[in-house]
Amino acid sequence: MERQILKARWVFPVERPPLEHAVVEVEGSHISAVYAGDHPQAVDLGNTAIVPGLINAHTHLEFSDLENPLGPVAPFTDWIQSVMKSRFESSTSIEPKIRKGIQECLESGTTCIGEIATSVASLHLFAQNQQVPHAVVFRECLGFSVDRISEQERIADQFFEEIPDQAESHLIQLGLSPHAPYSVHPDLYLSLVNEARNQVAPVAVHLAETQAELDFLERKQGPFVKLLTELGLWDPNILREDVRMFDYLAPLAELTSALAVHGNYFGETDIEFLRQAPQISVVYCPRTHHYFGHTPHPWLRMIERGINVAIGTDSRASNPDLSLWNELQFLRENFSEISPDLILECGTLAGARALGLSQEVGSLTIGKRADLALVQLPDGSKSSTGSDLLLNAQSHVARVMLNGGWVN
Ligand SMILES: [Zn+2]
Repeated sequence: MERQILKARWVFPVERPPLEHAVVEVEGSHISAVYAGDHPQAVDLGNTAIVPGLINAHTHLEFSDLENPLGPVAPFTDWIQSVMKSRFESSTSIEPKIRKGIQECLESGTTCIGEIATSVASLHLFAQNQQVPHAVVFRECLGFSVDRISEQERIADQFFEEIPDQAESHLIQLGLSPHAPYSVHPDLYLSLVNEARNQVAPVAVHLAETQAELDFLERKQGPFVKLLTELGLWDPNILREDVRMFDYLAPLAELTSALAVHGNYFGETDIEFLRQAPQISVVYCPRTHHYFGHTPHPWLRMIERGINVAIGTDSRASNPDLSLWNELQFLRENFSEISPDLILECGTLAGARALGLSQEVGSLTIGKRADLALVQLPDGSKSSTGSDLLLNAQSHVARVMLNGGWVN
């Protein structure tokens, strides 16, 4: 088995404090040692930091060909219509777009992805070789009207038969994504959560993304009623009289792992519930959140309460790129009081926990996969700590290792 010994100015194991002038040893595809100090055979990577490969907990790579995010940003339902139009009018097949998205993620340091897919195409692309990031591929299910339920249940059921032969070696897992409360019939939602529970598979759902979504459920009015009416799908009897967004959050606690994506408008009751349901993670998408001009995200309040908060880019329909590194730098710029170590943890180990893969990836820990990003640091003064330098505006991801092999 090939042995690689790498030495850098800083090493961020994440599960323990940063190490200055430290070594990471790799045996084959796994990490075999991490320590401060030197080794006579070490390859000196110079003024760099070795961090775990980044984990992008929420993408839709099928939109990776978009040059710019779609508009308008308000009302949100107009943006949804732009997304539907973009999907409908696109004549090219989705494989090249997904491939482009995978490449963009990888080049910016991402070695593991939580991907929402509308077909099995991405499953096969993630399985193609060892140089493609690990992934949890969530099959998206959509259908607000009652006559779509059985079709979507069948799609979900059949998805689990598509598990690729390389799933274990490439670390690929399958999950389900009932899209959102305004696009999935409540019975279909519960049925999909139930199917995921039977399959011991994770679920990802867009939840509490807008105030309009909460109003739609509680008052059966607003822009989502207008949109569904225009689409010929609105029937007020579909939603129970006293239904709340919380009714979509609560069933996720029955799963071994679930992702509540966005959670921009989670209130105190939701946060208290999440505190007692450690199997549910929240995925905060910082630049997408910013793009729509939402009220401040409660991510820090959640972390203080012990809730696992992972980071996602979401798609290029709401973000200029798919770089998780750029998300972390955005957080550093906008939350200067927060330690860069915590921001890095959100973009690595918290993502691994959210996707149920923390035994394999997410930190530089002996026995985990040798997935790492090499960050070029600015010169900085002698007294600068690695944490000061890591997410500095001049720092950038220079190289990426996946399963023990450099990919660029
Ligand atoms: Zn999304």
